[in-house]
Amino acid sequence: MGQLQLAGVTKSFGKAEVIQPTDLEITEGEFVVFVGPSGCGKSTLLRMIAGLEELTSGDIVIDGRVVNDVAPVERGVAMVFQTYALYPHMSVFENIAFPLRVAKLPRKEIESRVRRAAAILKLENRLDHKPAELSGGQRQRVAIGRAIVREPQVFLFDEPLSNLDAALRTEMRVELSRLHNSLGNTMIYVTHDQVEAMTMATKIVVLRDGHIEQVGTPLELFHRPVNRFVAGFIGNPT
Ligand code: ADP
Ligand code: MG
Repeated sequence: MGQLQLAGVTKSFGKAEVIQPTDLEITEGEFVVFVGPSGCGKSTLLRMIAGLEELTSGDIVIDGRVVNDVAPVERGVAMVFQTYALYPHMSVFENIAFPLRVAKLPRKEIESRVRRAAAILKLENRLDHKPAELSGGQRQRVAIGRAIVREPQVFLFDEPLSNLDAALRTEMRVELSRLHNSLGNTMIYVTHDQVEAMTMATKIVVLRDGHIEQVGTPLELFHRPVNRFVAGFIGNPT
């Protein structure tokens, strides 16, 4: 579970085709990083996978099922955003539990899922606190907790660390890798930060102007970039 396929996916806003026909295969358990300059279509692609943006054409297939017309919450995906709005008046527990309350899960199930997520994220001792009482890193972990409790097949992260300072970013990078190792889910992670891409990815997808320029492991892209653009992005300019 957690297999994902893009087949001829495109997206236009009016006359502008911001995603050109795109094919991509993602295997279960991969940590895929989408990199590319601002405006190249990273968020649009991720939002289409999440079901937050309609495709103009093509198919998105998750675990063998075409999900083009499947609602976001039914797709087995959960997204973590760059700006994570926590509810200030709710405790950490209630913030993490929120999507499960909306889904009307039984109270016992909510309790056990939240506690499991909190253990993974080392938030066990913060469940009664309010967001204002937490550090920036802890707040970001609460936002990730809200995705974990939904137990998705695929996690989608849109530049989740870009609002954090450098030290915290490094710490969270390690934590997200640990999370990936312990959950084993497929993760798709958007960033414009080359270091994040190189250190976290099992597979990097380099995007440029709405199309995929190259796909490969960090080492493949580093040693055999197809052109100067990729080389410049991956940090081995020729
Ligand atoms: P990235 O996340 O890589 O910075 P985006 O996916 O946000 O890029 O945007 C890709 C392109 O699509 C940009 O040119 C952007 O202006 C355009 N775009 C994104 N969303 C919309 C929208 N809702 N309406 C019109 N144009 C959009
Ligand atoms: Mg973006």
